[in-house]
Amino acid sequence: MPFVVGLTGGIASGKTTIANLFNQHFGIEIVDADVIAREVVEPNSPGLNAIEAKFGSEILLSDGTLNRAKLREVIFSDPVAKEWLNALLHPMIREKMLSDLSRVRSEYALLVIPLMVENNLQTLADNVLVVDVDEETQLARTMARDHIDRQQAESILASQASRQQRLASADYVIKNNTENQKLLPQITELHKKFLEMSREDL
Ligand code: ATP
Repeated sequence: MPFVVGLTGGIASGKTTIANLFNQHFGIEIVDADVIAREVVEPNSPGLNAIEAKFGSEILLSDGTLNRAKLREVIFSDPVAKEWLNALLHPMIREKMLSDLSRVRSEYALLVIPLMVENNLQTLADNVLVVDVDEETQLARTMARDHIDRQQAESILASQASRQQRLASADYVIKNNTENQKLLPQITELHKKFLEMSREDL
C-alpha cells in the first residue's frame, strides 16, 4: 500500500482543481471517491443489481443506467431506504478505494473524499490535507459552477461539515480563497513534505 494523503474540503472548495495539479506537475496518482461511487453502480455491477432488486426496474433509466435523481428522491423521503443503500454501497466503495490504492505506482497516492469528515473516513489516509476556503468564496463558486441560487448553495453548505470541523481533522491545510496561481507554490511545498514522509514510511 502506498503512503496515502487524504484530500477533502467542502463543496466547490477546489479539491478536483488541486488534485489535478498534483497529478499534472508531479505525477501523483488520484483515487477519487466520487468516481468510485459511480463505478460501483455501473450496469451489471452487484451494486446496481441489488438496487434494482430492491426498488424495481423503475429505478433505472431506459438505457439501463441508474436513475440518480429518482434514487435521491426515494431516499430523501425514506430514511430506512437511505440506511439500506448506505449499508450496501459504503463497504463496496471502501473496498474499491483500497484495491485502487494498492495499485498506485506513484510515490504516494492522493485519496480524494469529499465527505471524509462527515463519514469518518480519515482512518483510510496516513495524512489528511484539507482544502480551506471562506464560505463566501465557496458559495460564489458553487452558484457559478452549478447554476443554482444562493439559497440552494447555502443549504448544501449547511448539510456538510463546518469549516471548523474539517480543519480539526487536518494535518495540512491548503488555502484556496485566492487566485489559482497561488496554488502551485503551496502544492510544491506540500509535495516535498509528502515525499519525505512517504520515504520514511518505506
Ligand atoms: P465539488 O466537490 O463540489 O465537486 P471541488 O472541491 O472538487 O468541488 P473544484 O471543482 O475543483 O472543487 O472547484 C470548484 C469551482 O471553483 C470550479 O468551477 C473551479 O474552476 C473553481 N475554482 C477552484 N479553485 C479556484 C481558484 N483558486 N480560483 C478561481 N476559481 C477556482
